[in-house]
Amino acid sequence: MAVAKSSPASSSGEYAKRYPFGLRLSGGQVSGTSSRKGDAGAVKWWGWGLESKTYRLDDKPQFWPFLLKTLKLAQLNECPRVTLEDVELPPPRLDGRTLARLERVIGSADVSTTKHDRLTHSLGRSYVDLLTLRRGIIRNPPDAVVYPRNEKEVARLLSFARASRISVVPFAGGSSVVGGVDPVRQRGFKGAISVDLRKMNRVLEVDVISLTASVEAGISGPDLEDELSKIGFTLGHFPQSFQFSVLGGWIATRSAGQVSTKYGKIEDMVESLTMVSPSGKLDTKSVPASASGPQLKQLLIGSEGTLGVLTKAKMRIRHLPEVRRYEGLMFKSFRDGINAIRETMQSGLIPAMMRLSDPDETAVSLMLSSQGATTKLGLWMLERLGYVPSQECVMILGVEGDHTTLKAERQVAVRACKRNGAFAIGKGVGETWLNERFELPYLRDVLLDHCILVDTLETATTWDKLEALHGAIKKSIEEAIAGMGVTGLAFAHVSHAYWDGASIYYTLVAPQVKGREAQQWLRIKKAATDCIMRNGGTLSHHHGIGKDHAPWIKQELGENGLALLKAMKKQLDPEGIMNPGKLLGSP
Ligand SMILES: Cc1cc2nc3c(=O)[nH]c(=O)nc-3n(C[C@H](O)[C@H](O)[C@H](O)COP(=O)(O)OP(=O)(O)OC[C@H]3O[C@@H](n4cnc5c(N)ncnc54)[C@H](O)[C@@H]3O)c2cc1C
Repeated sequence: MAVAKSSPASSSGEYAKRYPFGLRLSGGQVSGTSSRKGDAGAVKWWGWGLESKTYRLDDKPQFWPFLLKTLKLAQLNECPRVTLEDVELPPPRLDGRTLARLERVIGSADVSTTKHDRLTHSLGRSYVDLLTLRRGIIRNPPDAVVYPRNEKEVARLLSFARASRISVVPFAGGSSVVGGVDPVRQRGFKGAISVDLRKMNRVLEVDVISLTASVEAGISGPDLEDELSKIGFTLGHFPQSFQFSVLGGWIATRSAGQVSTKYGKIEDMVESLTMVSPSGKLDTKSVPASASGPQLKQLLIGSEGTLGVLTKAKMRIRHLPEVRRYEGLMFKSFRDGINAIRETMQSGLIPAMMRLSDPDETAVSLMLSSQGATTKLGLWMLERLGYVPSQECVMILGVEGDHTTLKAERQVAVRACKRNGAFAIGKGVGETWLNERFELPYLRDVLLDHCILVDTLETATTWDKLEALHGAIKKSIEEAIAGMGVTGLAFAHVSHAYWDGASIYYTLVAPQVKGREAQQWLRIKKAATDCIMRNGGTLSHHHGIGKDHAPWIKQELGENGLALLKAMKKQLDPEGIMNPGKLLGSP
């Protein structure tokens, strides 16, 4: 994808005159076109990431014995998946005439009803999605997948869908873990189309004075960062799904990147945006702040495709950090680690990341470490210093920026950690984390191959409630797992920290209950979500609501709050064609 500089006559001269200082490029603005990069390889229709990749366990010999022992399993079982040929899809519900009209609206090359396209737009990437895909019985695939190339096509498409009573599901990277992209069947609709935005993937303009980039909503994480880094910038948004997720999806779900503590969540990075709704277009104003009533853009961010299609956004960008330093610290207890994060955040000097694992996650991380001998020696030393293995908690501290800021931020954070009894375990742990930060999701497929349930869930709360909430969620998950006759493990980390609190992210593993896999997941999900709601957590800190969290949305927003959102939907999408069944639940 190429970003061409605008001609000197158009903008650079003007900017250079107005801002002769501080220009990093020859022009004030960079504009251009780009096309989608060649595929880095085929993507799994049944799992996470590239077909060619899996999670390496051959250099981690302690992992399987640890897991078998923890889950009280005598042996590893095999749960193979079906092949693509065996996957069953119901035929498209849209008749030939409707499809022909659709092709006239958007161009035949950009409308697909192939099995592969319908299958890969049927579900996101949650545990239950993967269960369904691996079995190959897909009940609600979209009837067609369309790939608009510009905003006008999106507008025409929505008018057509509105007039034809076809529901529309915006689709970005398809990495939703809350049922955000499933074309839920609703009575009164002729069919459903998935609108894949990934052909709208250009960086339109970079303003190096205000440090913003206007970007089309379908650009992928890696493509956007490639374009920005070529000219010395970054968005600073790196969710674990980064390689396979897309700007519009991030904005529609209020996503959080791994270094959101410094750079903010995606909603903090949006200066303005454009949405095409069935009732017309909305452009929010590009200003740094405004007191013109409630912020419209914040009502559209997180709308999860239920109000319209986000087509572009002006994003706040940063200079690429000059230096990065990621390192490990070990705490004697989870509470000590939490206190260190809180004290750092309230000092006002904010590091990029303080990611604190609880004792169980620390144990799992050690089992997934390939540096067996070094790790054992380190643990032995820590034990002699009074660290109890079953209570130890590892933290990855990351700082990035220019040398001066980095030094100051690191100093404050390390001091807070040491005040709370942390032992520095060196840069190796931090660098390994940084290098492997997008790898772990590949392990999920390996565990599913061996009939092991693995899911994640997250929330956020204030510092005063954090430790209690962490304990309560663990208990609720492990009890729900035990309630179905198997032994599981729930482990967590605190990340995405704020002045007044932080998020908690849980991973849970358990042997699948054969024949009742989906019920097992539902029971755990319900127990954990009820627990979060009872104990002062938010329904979601960054995964969003989708279909899976919608049953709790009234509890989260209150009756009036939900009515307000529904009124917005009525205004922008009177026929309710946009992503039915998501966020607001049933109409
Ligand atoms: C392995 C893994 C790791 C993950 N790690 C993180 C993480 O670190 N942080 C995090 O925040 N999330 C994470 N997620 C969840 C997921 O990646 C995020 O929710 C992400 O923001 C979704 O982006 P996407 O491009 O895949 O969107 P999709 O899944 O395609 O869509 C998500 C929702 O947004 C709507 N939507 C998409 N594009 C548009 C548009 N242009 N206009 C209107 N609505 C639209 C869709 O209809 C859907 O409701 C992870 C998921 C997985 C599977």
